[in-house]
Amino acid sequence: MYIKENLIALLNSLPPNVQVVATSKTHPTDSIMEAYSVGHRIFGENKVQELLVKYNSLPKDIEWHFIGHLQTNKIKQIVPFVSLIHGVDSLKVLDEINKQALKCDRIVDCLLQVHIAKEETKFGFSVDEVSQFFLSHAYNQYPGIRIRGLMGMATNSDDLDLVNEEFASINELYKQCREIFGDSKFSILSIGMSGDYNIAIQHGGNLLRIGTMIFGDRDYGHNL
Ligand SMILES: *Cc1c(COP(=O)(O)O)cnc(C)c1O
Repeated sequence: MYIKENLIALLNSLPPNVQVVATSKTHPTDSIMEAYSVGHRIFGENKVQELLVKYNSLPKDIEWHFIGHLQTNKIKQIVPFVSLIHGVDSLKVLDEINKQALKCDRIVDCLLQVHIAKEETKFGFSVDEVSQFFLSHAYNQYPGIRIRGLMGMATNSDDLDLVNEEFASINELYKQCREIFGDSKFSILSIGMSGDYNIAIQHGGNLLRIGTMIFGDRDYGHNL
């Protein structure tokens, strides 16, 4: 296991304004503690059940990021403690996060997920929907939510021109929204994974979600 070495080498290679969500889904708590032991505190999970198990058994100063698709009926379980929700992909999800946040007296940081990939399966708002959201000042309707930026996933492809194009398009949208929104807290562009993070950084990505490069391959038949 080279988790510490992998993580340190990765962090040392990044520009100072770029942060990493150590994407620990499917990996055991021991692996998370290895990364924790060298000072890392930001971890990402994409399943509510798995996040709850890990949250309950690991140190409370970990900042948990939710990076997957959220089912509305599970939102109340993570809202009390989650640091950032990356995958907000519908107004329904936004409504429910807001409702639960107000119930527990929190303002929850969220990113709007934008559909930039060619693949049908990726969730998210369209570019037009995001523009409309900001132009109409719809964010004012959610006092329990602070919109911190945008999140996107490029097409899983070896076609670098395509990945470049997709990241450039979300960066353009990010800059436009930032201007309209005018809130300095709107400062996060969550793009880039193990295979494409160098391209993401070139297009303004400042929060990378990286799993495989830190923890190795995932075993989906795992037991926590
Ligand atoms: C798993 C996952 C990642 C990390 O992928 P790697 O290729 O292992 O770095 C990033 N983003 C999301 C949304 C994920 O589910």
